[in-house]
Amino acid sequence: MKRALFPGTFDPITLGHIEIIERGLQLFDEIIIGVGINSSKQTMFSLDQRILWIQEYFLKYHQKVKVLPFDGLTVDFAKKNEIKFLLRGLRSAPDFEYEKHIFLLNKHLDDKIETVFLVSDTQYIGVSSTLVREIIKYQGKLEGLVPQNIINFINKSIYPPHS
Ligand code: ADP
Repeated sequence: MKRALFPGTFDPITLGHIEIIERGLQLFDEIIIGVGINSSKQTMFSLDQRILWIQEYFLKYHQKVKVLPFDGLTVDFAKKNEIKFLLRGLRSAPDFEYEKHIFLLNKHLDDKIETVFLVSDTQYIGVSSTLVREIIKYQGKLEGLVPQNIINFINKSIYPPHS
């Protein structure tokens, strides 16, 4: 059973993350999406909300994708859940530089856990959770950036109704 962990904050999950996970499913039998609790990072959306959105989207994948909250070191969480692979997405050279350091650190902590990198499709290179949060703040258009269940929620609960 090849199981991979895709860790992140997902505040909120974007179509960029989803593209990496869906391609990852061709390589792995199961992908665990580890949603960081990250007490030092102030998030726009609660942990429960971030998890719920991911669960709603991946319902159609019938157990091949699982969502779990996580705190602490990624390698410890992976070991506890019998995961041997970490899946990460790469958009650009700065992503690569950052990810390289995380990779080396994780390797130092546990050299039995391997990291697999997938390069983002061109249409998602500019997509980030940070950008999505900015757009939400200014009530901009979210189509093409996040899945429909998130758009529906934001339109209903955050954006003011049209007069
Ligand atoms: P963090 O808050 O730790 O940066 P993110 O939730 O932003 O975590 O990202 C988790 C993973 O998803 C990282 O590997 C990141 O590079 C990748 N990722 C984020 N956005 C995209 C995107 N648009 N295309 C491909 N990979 C992405």
